[in-house]
Amino acid sequence: MNLEGLHPDTLAVRAGTQRSQFQEHSEAMYLTSSFVFGNAAEAAARFSGAEPGPIYARFTNPSVNMFEERLAAMEGAERCVAFASGMAAILATVMGLMRAGEHVVASRSIFGSTVQLFQNILGRFGVETTFVSPTDPAEWRAAVKPNTRLFFVESPSNPLTEVSDIRALADIAHESNAWLAVDNCFCTPALQRPLQLGADIVIHSATKYLDGQGRVLGGAVLGGKALMEGVYTFLRTAGPTLSAFNAWVLLKGLETLSLRMRAHSAHALELASWLEAHPKVDRVLYPGLASHPQHALAMRQQTTGGGIVAFELAGGKDAAWKVIDATQIMSITANLGDTRTTITHPASTTHSRLTPEQRQAAGIGDGLIRIAVGLEHPGDLQADLDRGLALI
Ligand SMILES: *Cc1c(COP(=O)(O)O)cnc(C)c1O
Repeated sequence: MNLEGLHPDTLAVRAGTQRSQFQEHSEAMYLTSSFVFGNAAEAAARFSGAEPGPIYARFTNPSVNMFEERLAAMEGAERCVAFASGMAAILATVMGLMRAGEHVVASRSIFGSTVQLFQNILGRFGVETTFVSPTDPAEWRAAVKPNTRLFFVESPSNPLTEVSDIRALADIAHESNAWLAVDNCFCTPALQRPLQLGADIVIHSATKYLDGQGRVLGGAVLGGKALMEGVYTFLRTAGPTLSAFNAWVLLKGLETLSLRMRAHSAHALELASWLEAHPKVDRVLYPGLASHPQHALAMRQQTTGGGIVAFELAGGKDAAWKVIDATQIMSITANLGDTRTTITHPASTTHSRLTPEQRQAAGIGDGLIRIAVGLEHPGDLQADLDRGLALI
């Protein structure tokens, strides 16, 4: 199928489909660990790369390939390599593209496990990381060293929804002979396409919005052919492989991504506006609100504000826990990107490994609540929060 010129919404439904001899309409799930060759010469040609086709499911599976091709079309990437989880995708990016003695500049406001990976694991193997402000490109420039190879950012950040200027960071990375990798988990290609803004690599935790219903783990790395060859070689050798079952679930998830992201964003904007007008709420952080510090930038590089809303209560942890515990609809869980709204107290869960001083420096107060707004009716979500807000 010629994908040239098709709208991303069409690509999400049509790109990547490969049919077997049965011409199934919905894509098949290839639950097999290996593939049979017609004869010894075909086996040799597959192994040498002279002939394309599946070999062994650690590194080739048609269900996984369909997911990779569809996501690549949606991000506008030359190639996508799928992984078992978002963390495996981040690890593979570094293992596939960097060597000991090289340096990473990373946003201070990134996923907790990503911080641990850079600091505690990759640090042991001689890859050093400097953490800087997501919103101040000058700090990135100042952190560059002769051995810097990678810039790593998430935008908007979790849980404060800080927005980074992707084009500015890409320019600084390229002047510094480094690549910019963007963890696009919060926006997905439905709202933001970092490669079009100058980034070299896009990373996904497919576990979140790409699946969209909290069913499976998955990850992906996307970018140009040459970079992705390094990432793929790591996958083929080390084996953090996405299963065919999960790939199939994710493939189906992509078909509704654009619709879901529009609804998540509309519901989040409605909830954020309502919270901002609520007398018991001190501060609301949502990129789609005019009051957000990087609102103009967010509206330039994203189509909408996304599904994550954070808000702060003056009463600290007691008030936050009261509001969380009074909810009857929302799920108290750290996951996000689900049809079901989730509510989190970052200071005592996702960010509890930081010291109180580190949390204060990061702007994560004890009264902060993060909501990943789902697809329930916004009126019901407001009533769910109002139950607790009435108690404080
Ligand atoms: C969840 C998440 C990850 C890690 O993904 P897993 O699929 O859980 O391994 C990475 N980055 C961000 C922004 C996330 O939210």
